Amino acid sequence: MYGFRHKREKRSSLIDRYSANLGQLVDHRRAELALRAAKDNAEAASLAAQAANRAKTEFLAKMSHEIRTPMNGVLGMTDLLSRTELTDRQRKFVSTARQSAETLLNLIDDILDFSRIEAGKVELRHADFDVRGIVGDVIDLLAESAQSKGLEITYRFSRAVPQGLRGDSNRLRQIIFNLVGNAIKFTDQGEVVVRVDADRVADESVVLSFKVTDTGIGIPLEAMQHILRPFEQADGSITRRFGGAGLGLTITRQLIEMMDGELSIDSTPGSGSTIRFTVRLEPAAAAYDQDLVPQSSLEGTKVLIVDDNVTNRELLHYCLSEWSMVSESAADGYRALQMLRVAANRGEPFDLVLLDMMMPGMSGIEVAQAIKKEPSLGSTQIIVLTSMGRDGALDETWPSNIHAFLTKPVRQTELYDQIKRVMSVAVEQTVSPDPRLDATEPEPTEDSEPTAGATVLLAEDNPVNQEVMREYLMALGCHVEVVETGLQAVAAFERTTYDLIFMDCQMPDMDGLDATMMLRLRERQQNRQPRTPIIAVTADAFEAQRERCLEAGMDDYIRKPFDQNDLSAILQRWLNHGGPLAATKCESDVGARAPSKEPSDYEHLTQCEELDSSALSNIASLNRGGSSENVDEIIKIYLDITPKYLADLRSAINASDVLGTERTAHKLKSSSATLGAMKLAA
Ligand code: ADP
Repeated sequence: MYGFRHKREKRSSLIDRYSANLGQLVDHRRAELALRAAKDNAEAASLAAQAANRAKTEFLAKMSHEIRTPMNGVLGMTDLLSRTELTDRQRKFVSTARQSAETLLNLIDDILDFSRIEAGKVELRHADFDVRGIVGDVIDLLAESAQSKGLEITYRFSRAVPQGLRGDSNRLRQIIFNLVGNAIKFTDQGEVVVRVDADRVADESVVLSFKVTDTGIGIPLEAMQHILRPFEQADGSITRRFGGAGLGLTITRQLIEMMDGELSIDSTPGSGSTIRFTVRLEPAAAAYDQDLVPQSSLEGTKVLIVDDNVTNRELLHYCLSEWSMVSESAADGYRALQMLRVAANRGEPFDLVLLDMMMPGMSGIEVAQAIKKEPSLGSTQIIVLTSMGRDGALDETWPSNIHAFLTKPVRQTELYDQIKRVMSVAVEQTVSPDPRLDATEPEPTEDSEPTAGATVLLAEDNPVNQEVMREYLMALGCHVEVVETGLQAVAAFERTTYDLIFMDCQMPDMDGLDATMMLRLRERQQNRQPRTPIIAVTADAFEAQRERCLEAGMDDYIRKPFDQNDLSAILQRWLNHGGPLAATKCESDVGARAPSKEPSDYEHLTQCEELDSSALSNIASLNRGGSSENVDEIIKIYLDITPKYLADLRSAINASDVLGTERTAHKLKSSSATLGAMKLAA
């Protein structure tokens, strides 16, 4: 009995165990099935998400392309419209439409960029680039918007930053542009400063660290978290002051992370923000000129920095000390003058003054004038730092002891070049024989060359000729004033005296011959002594034209194309050290004094070469640092103006307007000859 019960119990416990096992197996299997289903679902969801993402990216790419095309039409048409005759009100409407179109285009670009980065479609390029150039370009681009708000914008590189690096320069430019752009946008007064430092890490890559500091509205603590998310702004209210889609920082951060870097924000609302970021780059594959600054040449130069802005003073001081120069600084003109006097009395005068133009109390110009009045400060060279204009020319109204100017924000390389140029001229005390050194900033030291420091009026309506003559004359150390018509020349002559006048023969309003007659009349009426030399500038080779110039009262004659030597010869002939030379030379001399290049007759001109390349190379030789800037600019002016001349010529011919045809043909001939297009001129 016991045995039977025992067996039954044993069986039942076996069955229990089996059924428990079975239960476990079923549970396990069920779990497995559930897991697989979940996995399948997840995979399907992920595929669907990827497909959706792809579709989103493709949609955005397609849409932004589709929107871009008509936007180009809108931009192009508003551009054309703005060139037509409009009332002020209409001009304002067009300009607003254009700005809106540009904003929209930027927004489309941002959306496209964002979706491409999200979809992992952005690949970084690897090419060598010059990081100083990149930062300088961005700051240059943004300088105007900063300066129009009255902001100081400065940047500084530590010496550790290599000149050449390897990476994606376009994306780096985009990052800096966004951050500096924001800093300017959210700052109403004060300054924006960019600092760049570098660390070379063990694996030979270079980690650049950037710091963009502003003195703007700042970012509240609670906003710092979300502004890095897409489409978020610190001020999300519909009444907010600043526009924008809130994509800039998101894209910037993503790009920085792609470059193995980090972005961090530090801000005090009401006093400003500092945005820091790092990027990891490789050293440049090709050798770069690391020796940005040859130490020896400027070592020990004693410089006084005069600027009311403390950051600017610090930055300049930093640069100068990197170049082994010795600098002190003054926050205003009064203090600067005091320091200059003390140093001069001690027999240790400052070699150079870096002078800010806009300072409260006493402007940079006033400081320069005060320095000029004190003979004991005569050996001090002056470089002015200004936020105004960038036309490459010294302002003729500035005192002559200003030897160069730099437009802020100042590039370190430019600062170095200018200091070197100014100091080498100061040491040599002569005008450099290399015309390139004087191309943009003349060296008007009275005791250098007879032409240096002369004030010359150039009456010329042709923009190509204006530019070429201006460059040449400035390279010879002259102060140049340009007018475009004979009437303007007469008006300018009434206002002031010139050491010499270059007069184009054919000009609108009043031609050069009539203008000369008017000037001579005024001279006689006002008993102005000595008589101002007037030199005809013409593309004409005819003897008769020369006779007409003489009859009108001109003294000499220069024919296009001419080079700096021809001009220099003319200037030397007519100027002496003290100022204008009395026109003692008899007018009949003029023929004999005509430039040697002059062809004997018209025949010669028609047989001449297509292009007299010496004309262009002469202009090119004036360029600073061997760049082709001037030639490019002058050729551009020529290409811009020539279609207009041709159209005018065509309509004058069609209208059988003989005088108009002659006048327009002359203009075309004149600018062509200046650039050496001799056959065309003929
Ligand atoms: P957007 O593309 O609209 O300019 P961003 O993503 O670049 O937007 O910036 C997001 C927000 O972060 C801005 O709307 C602004 O509120 C805040 N912000 C960014 N930079 C600064 C700054 N330098 N100072 C103050 N606020 C800033």
